[in-house]
Amino acid sequence: MTEKEYHVYIDGKYLPKNEAKISVFDHGFLYGDGVFEGIRSYNGHVFKLDEHINRLYESATSIGLTIPLSQDDMKQKILETMRKNELKKDAYIRVVVTRGKGDLGLDPRKCPSPSIIIIADKISIYQAESLRAITASTRRNAVTALNPMIKSLNYLNNILAKMEANRANVEEAIMLNQHGLVCEGSSDNLFIIKNSVVMTPLPSADILVGITRNFVIELARKTGYTVKEQDITLHDLYNADEAFFTGTAAQVMPLVEVDGRKIGNGKPGLITRELMKKFEEHKENGTTVY
Ligand code: PLP
Repeated sequence: MTEKEYHVYIDGKYLPKNEAKISVFDHGFLYGDGVFEGIRSYNGHVFKLDEHINRLYESATSIGLTIPLSQDDMKQKILETMRKNELKKDAYIRVVVTRGKGDLGLDPRKCPSPSIIIIADKISIYQAESLRAITASTRRNAVTALNPMIKSLNYLNNILAKMEANRANVEEAIMLNQHGLVCEGSSDNLFIIKNSVVMTPLPSADILVGITRNFVIELARKTGYTVKEQDITLHDLYNADEAFFTGTAAQVMPLVEVDGRKIGNGKPGLITRELMKKFEEHKENGTTVY
């Protein structure tokens, strides 16, 4: 498909990719005032569409943004965008809802109509088979300032952490929360395994509660593992037998080194690999066909 034929949904219209533009007065651009979702499809099946739509609308509610489409209509538009772009294999879908056009002040009352953008494209995935990480000095946003449960367009907190990983020449950054507890990666959730018990930080550790995280918890429990949502310290992480990240793009991705310490034997662990396999086998469950 050529650039010209590729279409982006903006406020009810499908525009060719290179004509898909948003005003410089949009507060999504000026202030990061808006919300988004990153969704994935596997082989023509959209993964956990209901859960993503639910999180999008919850994020919007939290920032006092009324999305001018019902949840059902939003789902239909997403599926239509996939069909229009003939994305029959694996694809990535980005749904963005901005506060809309306003003036140069930050007052959202000056933005009468939110903008809805849906981009569906081929997926670009991590090439690595396992990741190394550092602990970022940038702490995860405090829940009292900007709740990490809101998937807002304001991702600077995560970007600053990612830049620390880039400078350290590793693939990912681990963010601690304001209390110094392990929180999550810059764009994925974290799990550790010790003595065959699978552990991940609690939602109250100021994480974004990942849809992949919840699916992996379910898979691990069904496979017979004890899964605990609990406080995790750096000490726990450094001394874990195995660790992995989860996320829409990452799926289940082994984490083999943190701050120069090998996790376990420094290779993807047995249970991690088992969960990767389970993920692969079950990822088309609970999907929506378009
Ligand atoms: N944590 C953060 C900060 C993220 O941006 C993401 C990605 O959306 C995740 C975790 C993983 O969430 P999900 O599995 O829903 O993609």
